[in-house]
Amino acid sequence: MSPFLDLPPLSAATFAAIEDQVAALLHTTADVIVTQGEALLPLEAAIRGAAHPGSTALNIVTGPYGQTFGNWLRDCGATVVDLAVPFDSAVTAGQVAEALAAHPAIDFVSLVHAEAATGNTNPVAEIAGVVREHGALLMLDAVASVAAEPLLTDAWGVDLCVIGGQKAMGGPAGVSAVSVSGRAWERIAANPAAPRRSYLSLLDWKERWTDAGRAVLPHAPAQLEMLALGACLDRIAAAGLPTVIARHRAAAAATRAGVRVLDTVTPFVPDDAHAAPVATTLRTPADLSAAGLAAELLRLDPALPVQPGGGALAGSMLRVNHYGTAASVDTVRATLTALGSALGTDPAAALKAADTAWEAAAHASA
Ligand SMILES: *Cc1c(COP(=O)(O)O)cnc(C)c1O
Repeated sequence: MSPFLDLPPLSAATFAAIEDQVAALLHTTADVIVTQGEALLPLEAAIRGAAHPGSTALNIVTGPYGQTFGNWLRDCGATVVDLAVPFDSAVTAGQVAEALAAHPAIDFVSLVHAEAATGNTNPVAEIAGVVREHGALLMLDAVASVAAEPLLTDAWGVDLCVIGGQKAMGGPAGVSAVSVSGRAWERIAANPAAPRRSYLSLLDWKERWTDAGRAVLPHAPAQLEMLALGACLDRIAAAGLPTVIARHRAAAAATRAGVRVLDTVTPFVPDDAHAAPVATTLRTPADLSAAGLAAELLRLDPALPVQPGGGALAGSMLRVNHYGTAASVDTVRATLTALGSALGTDPAAALKAADTAWEAAAHASA
């Protein structure tokens, strides 16, 4: 007997209820579409729905995903203004305002909230304010921020907010969702280049599912993933979203405090205000390969959520993915203990600093 087999098809009512739970998590009353596929699916669908030849996009690049968005925007024929900042920092609302003022034709802005790959986070509330004033649509990649830090889709004025289940939500990979504001629907509906009769079509979902009363599913959803997503949303609701957010904030603060005492590896994002709660990235010294360090840490403790940075960062950056169930004081302590062993340093003082930082951050109000 396998709990994964012989399941009845997922009902439309269950699917709609999951969408409503996601809407609550995102603090939005906009339409939410749950997509089966990794988060890149709704991100690409949002860009292809909104962008077209003749449109001008401001693409804010604060990590690797921003580069991907720029490529899609160009592929859609949009004129793209790239605003790139170093991956160990954050973009400011002032920089965004300058770019908008310099290019009045901008009608779409793509922004990543938090970057799990580089460990930085951007001040979305302020940025969204200047984007709204300019009148452009704002697409936010919140895959690495949802459940790790506040995400106020409607209050901030985010038009297209994309999430995935597998990071701070502690849920399944391969499921994702996007909220679509009324303004965004109007723009997409008016875009002759927006995908139709396509897996990337948000308009198909609107027509066949959302506007049709969500009574009949247009396809058979993957039950296992959807049931897992529903269970994960239930678990977040039971724990309380502020508690889940506080755990992530505390994990980042404790990891940063601990490594500062160890003093061999250093926070890749130096400014605490720019550090993402979802994951902490560490810079290794020139004579210490991050890939080698990650391998040694995993040899010491195979359960640690560590990996070397991607691409060119594999040599110099170690990622500590303290998200989901790994956003715990035990995981932070185990990581610092293994780092101490690998670096030949007694971890006692680092653990003490981490405990103190955890207590302070876990009890601070959001
Ligand atoms: C992980 C991540 C993604 C990609 O999510 P997938 O579900 O793997 O496609 C996109 N954006 C950000 C910021 C992420 O951290």
